[in-house]
Amino acid sequence: MQIVSRAEWGAAPSKYPLVSISSTRGVKIHYEGTEVPRSLADDHGRCAPRMRALQASHLANTAEDYSDIAYTAVVCPHGAVFEGRGARRRTGANGDPTLNAGHYAVCAMLGDSGLTEPTAAQLGGLRDAIEWLRAEGGAGDEIRGHRDGYATSCPGAPLYAWVQAGAPRPDGTEATPQPAPAPAEDVPARYQAVVGGLTYGYGAEGPHVTAVGEALVARGFGGHYRSGPGPLWTDADTLNYADFQRSLGYAGGDADGVPGPHSLRALLGTLPGGRTVSLAHIVAAAQADPGAEQGHQTHGEEAHVVEQALADEGLLDPRWVDGSFGTRTIAAYAAWQRRCGYSGGDADGIPGRTTLAALGAAHQFTVTE
Ligand SMILES: [Zn+2]
Ligand SMILES: [Zn+2]
Repeated sequence: MQIVSRAEWGAAPSKYPLVSISSTRGVKIHYEGTEVPRSLADDHGRCAPRMRALQASHLANTAEDYSDIAYTAVVCPHGAVFEGRGARRRTGANGDPTLNAGHYAVCAMLGDSGLTEPTAAQLGGLRDAIEWLRAEGGAGDEIRGHRDGYATSCPGAPLYAWVQAGAPRPDGTEATPQPAPAPAEDVPARYQAVVGGLTYGYGAEGPHVTAVGEALVARGFGGHYRSGPGPLWTDADTLNYADFQRSLGYAGGDADGVPGPHSLRALLGTLPGGRTVSLAHIVAAAQADPGAEQGHQTHGEEAHVVEQALADEGLLDPRWVDGSFGTRTIAAYAAWQRRCGYSGGDADGIPGRTTLAALGAAHQFTVTE
């Protein structure tokens, strides 16, 4: 069983406090229901960015006003279980507050087009998630589909057939022991995270590490330094950073002292190494480029950043990541707006502040005026 904690995939904090629950009758299985790129199955490196994008689209969804990503957990085609709201938190995905209190919601990264058939590893991961929620979240025996008790086609025919068969663990995927318990408070986390192209965490080295240490000291979170801060990330950096994360309201694995994009931005006011996109420049490009000759660039570098993010979302063919905010980029951006819950004239492909900020949060660029 491979559980990827919120800190490990770079989750943003919840928008509102999550509702605690002690148990449920079981688990409901979901799928994403939109197109999931078939190529996702070839690259596990895209699964954590996809989680950040899913969370960003839920947080930007003005119609639902979610507190956080709606799901309890999400399982990628490679069988990893990404922690969503997590155990003992009420989900937002089952349809209404009663349904949400009744079952946890576990979603497969699977669509109604593109990637539509679950892999054996994914079914094994869904089974892992169910067993994890039984052990850690007081989940009862029931395994249902989203469509049970609610008018939806979710989780799609292939996954629903598996649910109706009793959600069997596929041959060849082993039931593995429960995940290792979270490290004790006094053992600092020693993994690394890459944010904005720069590496942070134990053993990371460079002027960007010194900059984090100096910012921590300036804010009064330098208590664990014996010497320094310096360019090599040590356990003292991790412990100081964890203190800072707790001051932001993070807890448990989210406050393990390894930076994510949100806490770093909160500490430094910007993302080092990260890119900046001006809303005014992007709107100007979106208004000028489609009517100009093919390949016309208005603010090419910034348009390129936005286009790469849309391509990473599976919304834009990579060959149109060219710095020109043309008609295909407009269409891709409109699809992003719809994913964020906008429709009609609000999903016209001309970027607005909320959707651009959500895209930036998921793909690590900063939006300015
Ligand atoms: Zn569903
Ligand atoms: Zn994966």
